[in-house]
Amino acid sequence: MRQKLVVGNWKMHGNAADNRQLLQSLVAGYPSVGDVSVAVCVPFPYLAQVQSLLAATPVAWGAQNLSEHAQGAYTGEVSAAMLGDFGCRYVIVGHSERRALYGETDRLVAAKFVAAKAAGLVPILCVGETLAQRESGDTARVVAGQLDAVLDLAGVAAFAGAVVAYEPVWAIGTGRTASPVQAQEVHAAIRVRIADRDAWVAAGMQLLYGGSVKAQNAGEIFAQADIDGGLVGGASLVADEFLAICQAANR
Ligand code: PEP
Repeated sequence: MRQKLVVGNWKMHGNAADNRQLLQSLVAGYPSVGDVSVAVCVPFPYLAQVQSLLAATPVAWGAQNLSEHAQGAYTGEVSAAMLGDFGCRYVIVGHSERRALYGETDRLVAAKFVAAKAAGLVPILCVGETLAQRESGDTARVVAGQLDAVLDLAGVAAFAGAVVAYEPVWAIGTGRTASPVQAQEVHAAIRVRIADRDAWVAAGMQLLYGGSVKAQNAGEIFAQADIDGGLVGGASLVADEFLAICQAANR
């Protein structure tokens, strides 16, 4: 039985005062969540604040991006080891916004995944198709390609203890969610693709769904056989809504 996991992706939101309130509410409400792992991935400048407010709590934290390099002349970049210095457990890799807006290729995403693993972080690898790709029947091929790029560079063993998030691009921040059946279909295909290389790794991997998850739709999505929780953007900025989503993962 895989542990359920719900991760909040704050994106470029927050300020020190609001973060404090949100984190305090999360920690206060955490006992209501039950047997679910919970984490928040926050902008780099808030890692120290999050570390100090969450260190003594069961809520984990992480970042939303990292450099593929370990160190050097890469102005503006942040290495995996630096994230480790701030107690990060997780780092999101290959979010569709980074792929679409910052030109991150499958190859670069794979290099970031490797860098995260090398530093002992848990990469949350995001994969997913655009609306045009879905409508032209290309979902399986696109997702398999994104996955294979990382499997080929990192090796399947690196997926043990990693997390994959299926996030259809057309569902992110749009209020449009994949149906539970659509989501399960892609999650199952992801697990099979990994199982083709290593059945044990595939069976233990946490696969998350992301894309307009709300308290109202989370239960049905998380009940699918290959969906082990969620990566939650907008709804993770409202403590009660996020806690309700985490509770939905506990059923
Ligand atoms: C995300 O940011 O990864 C995401 C899924 O956002 P939202 O939940 O707002 O669609």
